[in-house]
Amino acid sequence: MKRVYSSEDSMMAGHIKSILEAEGIPCLLKNQILSSAIGELPPHECWPETWVSNDQDYERATKIVTSVLSPAQHSSSPWHCDCGEEIEGQFTACWQCGHQRPDD
Ligand SMILES: [Zn+2]
Repeated sequence: MKRVYSSEDSMMAGHIKSILEAEGIPCLLKNQILSSAIGELPPHECWPETWVSNDQDYERATKIVTSVLSPAQHSSSPWHCDCGEEIEGQFTACWQCGHQRPDD
């Protein structure tokens, strides 16, 4: 399993899940019931998360999530990180290795 989305907004995590399932990607939500535990853990670790069940769906799922979240920013062109990952244009850092987008 891989996490494709995390937000403090549980409605949004559920929305992402619905969209992915409509695309035929099995997924599930985590941390839906942990809100009462906030105070014990760093808040971002309690955020609702959307996970894909199958790792092979991860790349397609992240592209769908990206397009859902940022429909107005598609003009940014993808870039390639040194580690070989192709990163969507609106991201300024590699999700794989954390490198910043090179200035060009
Ligand atoms: Zn990288």
